[in-house]
Amino acid sequence: IVEVTDLRVAFGRDRREVLHGVDFTLAKGERLGLIGESGSGKSVTALAVMGLLAETATVTGSIRIDGQEIVNAPDRVVARLRGDIMSMVFQEPMTALDPTMKVGRQVAEVWQLHSPRDRRHEARNHVLDMLERVGLSDPPRIARSFPHQLSGGQRQRVVLAMALINKPDLVICDEPTTALDVTVQARVLRVLDEALDAVGAACLFISHDLAVVSQVCAEIMVMLDGDVVERGTTRQIFTDPRHGYTKGLIATAR
Ligand code: ATP
Ligand code: MG
Repeated sequence: IVEVTDLRVAFGRDRREVLHGVDFTLAKGERLGLIGESGSGKSVTALAVMGLLAETATVTGSIRIDGQEIVNAPDRVVARLRGDIMSMVFQEPMTALDPTMKVGRQVAEVWQLHSPRDRRHEARNHVLDMLERVGLSDPPRIARSFPHQLSGGQRQRVVLAMALINKPDLVICDEPTTALDVTVQARVLRVLDEALDAVGAACLFISHDLAVVSQVCAEIMVMLDGDVVERGTTRQIFTDPRHGYTKGLIATAR
């Protein structure tokens, strides 16, 4: 579903390069964890795949989504892919939520992008169903709430519902549980795990926390200073890390 080849990203007038030729592929339904320290280029990689990098970024190389090249493609091409087959969850739920609108309506609007001719009560049933599936009890009450009336964990689950309601083929999660306390984090990860299975979506899951990544992903890719330095199964990364950086990471995680 994703094929990234020799991806380079530079910012600003001085063209400071922050990705130095990243290569990876992600097959349909596959889940790949992406770890690396702060500033290594994880978020930039995710934003490039979503076609959401700032205007100031210079992008070269190739990113194919479902066979379609998106590097320097027209905005409408990438926007259509974002509507149809990919979605993203950020660390901070309010990135995705409008504080002035009830959350039920916000989830419904995402659904209607996909099924514009759906009748209103059908859309509503679908929304309530999805809210329930991400583990929110009393979906009708949640739907009637404004974002600020919900807890951080509830808000992030609403965002997951928005990301999954159109049955995307690819979901990119950038530190989706970092802002949550540990018990809520575990619950949200379980919900994500089940929902990805139900939808059959592929996932690129970014975190600096190895334990979190290994809960969701069968494979892990490691970035260091704008390069991918290692990729392997989660088991292999834990038991037989190759790169010095990964070895250090595993040693401190123990
Ligand atoms: P973290 O774990 O802290 O989220 P990260 O691995 O996600 O880190 P990125 O956000 O991908 O790191 O940043 C990689 C590099 O790109 C950093 O040096 C950052 O300063 C730079 N960078 C990211 N976005 C921009 C931008 N819009 N303009 C200029 N530089 C940027
Ligand atoms: Mg980041």
